[in-house]
Amino acid sequence: MANRTPLLAGNWKMNLNHVEAAGVVQKLAWTLADMNYEKDKAEAAVIVPFTDIRVVQTIIEGDKMPIAFGAQDVSVHDAGAYTGEISSEMLAKLNCRYVVVGHSERREYHGEDDAIVNAKAKKVLAAAMTPIICVGEKLEIRKEGTHVAFVLGQIDGVLAGLTAEQVAGLVIAYEPVWAIGTGEVATPDDAQEVCGAIRTRVGELFDDATAEKVRIQYGGSVKSSNVADIMAQPDVDGALVGGASLDPVEFARIVMFDKK
Ligand code: PEP
Repeated sequence: MANRTPLLAGNWKMNLNHVEAAGVVQKLAWTLADMNYEKDKAEAAVIVPFTDIRVVQTIIEGDKMPIAFGAQDVSVHDAGAYTGEISSEMLAKLNCRYVVVGHSERREYHGEDDAIVNAKAKKVLAAAMTPIICVGEKLEIRKEGTHVAFVLGQIDGVLAGLTAEQVAGLVIAYEPVWAIGTGEVATPDDAQEVCGAIRTRVGELFDDATAEKVRIQYGGSVKSSNVADIMAQPDVDGALVGGASLDPVEFARIVMFDKK
């Protein structure tokens, strides 16, 4: 993990309304405090539905909780006649630190490709937030054995036109689609194989210093029972956690992965 601060981010997906969100964030903060959480050792973040952001912001900032927060998607447009869309400036105004772009569910159900994901990442960066850019292969590709080449192709697309400085500060989430929400977690070696290859590719596309700084998460059925072995891999700098992040006690255990 070198000098990179791990990022454990909980993607709530379309779960928890704003009333429920308030309770979950408070319980997460109390649980982390009970576990003597230190934010310099690992960063905890909640990635919440748009309708929850304001209440989550108010609680976290009001009580100075050591938890970052962010959004699950963003528009490629800045403003105007795009009914239903949310701009990066709107999210920045709510003090979001992170915005997930290119989650496999957006790619699958909303037809997002690497060019759209790249455009969204640029909007997030332009608004001074940090994109968490998701990549990952489907089961057919994993079975064919071409998963590394496939993911590196995604990396080339989603990072196109970014500067080394921008890439050094962002987060890449390697999420094999077959492991998301299925209970089927990649082995620590599987996670390391692809996360290591991504870091090498970032070094080739940019430079070694950028590769050393960029944070690469693993995502796919992470739980408190499997997180430590995954986090022990040298190129895994955190986890993007779906289902298990809805339970604040379980998510706190994931954040405290090295203190079972
Ligand atoms: C995700 O949604 O990014 C995810 C990894 O989900 P889960 O942890 O439920 O597999």
